[in-house]
Amino acid sequence: MLDGIDLDVTPLHKILLDALSDKKIFLLSTNADKQFEKAGLSTDQIFCTQGDYFHIQCRKGCHEKTYAAVDLFRKMDAARENCMIPSELVPKCPVCGVPMDMNLRKDQYFVQDEDWYAAEE
Ligand SMILES: [Zn+2]
Repeated sequence: MLDGIDLDVTPLHKILLDALSDKKIFLLSTNADKQFEKAGLSTDQIFCTQGDYFHIQCRKGCHEKTYAAVDLFRKMDAARENCMIPSELVPKCPVCGVPMDMNLRKDQYFVQDEDWYAAEE
């Protein structure tokens, strides 16, 4: 289990890490669902350049900070009715007030926070 997410690791990611088990590795990945962490690689050995599905950011990228969102997603899921969630559960940027978005590199507003720069270094 990772950050409260209990999805299974894919066999491919486990096979890749097993094949490299005798090597000292640092992984640069575009994977956004933490498959390599689920397969057993430490977070300090991974640089996910494109963000992930576990953090949110300001939709307009007004400040360089991301927020862990798994607990929020669980609340949304528990409150979901007919594929809709209560409006009050839609997260708003604490700085500018626009709705939050996934921290994924999909437009010019992608946030690279201090953890992103540390991993890049
Ligand atoms: Zn904002």
